Amino acid sequence: MELYNTATASKEHLDLGHEVSLYVCGITPYAATHLGHAFTYHTFDVLTRILQHDGHSVNSVRNVTDVDDDIFRVSRERSVPVDQLVSSEMEIFHTDCHALNMLPVTHEPYASGAIEAMIARVGELVACGAAYVVGGTVYFSVDSFPSYGQVSHYDTSTMRSLSRLRGANPDDPNKRNPLDFILWQPEAPGEKSWDSPWSSGRPGWHIECSTLAESLLGLPVDIHGGGEDLIYPHHESEAAQAEACSTSTTFVRYWAHVSHVAYEGEKMSKSLGNLIFARDLRAQSGARAVRYFLSQFHYRTSWEYVDSLFAHAAGKFAHLDVLCDADARIEETAAEELASEVLNHLRNDLDTVSAAAAIADFIEKAAGHQSSQGSPLRTVIDPLWELIGIAPKVPAATPSHGVPHHGTVA
Ligand SMILES: [Zn+2]
Repeated sequence: MELYNTATASKEHLDLGHEVSLYVCGITPYAATHLGHAFTYHTFDVLTRILQHDGHSVNSVRNVTDVDDDIFRVSRERSVPVDQLVSSEMEIFHTDCHALNMLPVTHEPYASGAIEAMIARVGELVACGAAYVVGGTVYFSVDSFPSYGQVSHYDTSTMRSLSRLRGANPDDPNKRNPLDFILWQPEAPGEKSWDSPWSSGRPGWHIECSTLAESLLGLPVDIHGGGEDLIYPHHESEAAQAEACSTSTTFVRYWAHVSHVAYEGEKMSKSLGNLIFARDLRAQSGARAVRYFLSQFHYRTSWEYVDSLFAHAAGKFAHLDVLCDADARIEETAAEELASEVLNHLRNDLDTVSAAAAIADFIEKAAGHQSSQGSPLRTVIDPLWELIGIAPKVPAATPSHGVPHHGTVA
């Protein structure tokens, strides 16, 4: 299987053992589950399905960032305790993931459950000179780590402007280098805090993920992914924290990033509030149509959500679904050829677009040819749809008046 590796800026053949470790940055639980989230988790769900199909056992982690500036801010704004906000948003997220036929991940750790391990790692970084303390704040020193930039390959001025844009405060006068980032910060009034050797406070965001990845998967992690806006500073800083103080540690072997989804001309984001929610699309056309729609975009191409695009895809999927129930039979050779074509597309950097198109073309052609030999079309197609995350169609209960029913299934 080939996958594009952000760190080498090239499509690489994945050299993997039987067990594959996969870490995908999870949600900060508010505004779940918008379409940008859904597109990211759809992508790693398809990756997991292909790896499993090819005989690998996938050990996956998707964390929950429940200790974070944003979650504390939203909790204040909505006057809802943090724990209550987190649990209600996670319930929505799980409901969406389940409805969208996403495979369960192996581990779903909460950042708040691993604070001791984070404090231990920050202590190591201070001890080896990769981090320094000012007041009660601990900063990572990027000048101590010559490989800083190995994931993103951004130049200093790009890093500096992204730091500013993404709230990393390069203008903090306590920083020795504007790109230094926080490993530990003192508590702000009303926020959750933990005791540490430096102050009563909480970990920085980046140390949450690298610590969880190391403790649950061990290093190196085979594949680490997330949305493309996490490349810098989040993933760049995760790698620095995990590899500093050692000359032999590799944090991650392959970095995979999913492009953003736009809406109304801007990246769909919680801060802008231009959000389309997975549950609304499910309610309109069913979860299977939503997965088909997501498969129409390659994960490394940014795209913009437009109502008419979704309506068109949902209409096409409903049509294909009706054709699949036609009385067509497929001979074994043709079924095998189609399966191998679909798998080849998916093994080529997760080309869901070509895979879905191959399935759709096959259905359209097959439905017009009556044959008495082979397997019913539906039994050939459903396992292939499932590779891109579309659940098998649940047979509709026969209505009491006996009329066949071709409605969409939620
Ligand atoms: Zn992360």
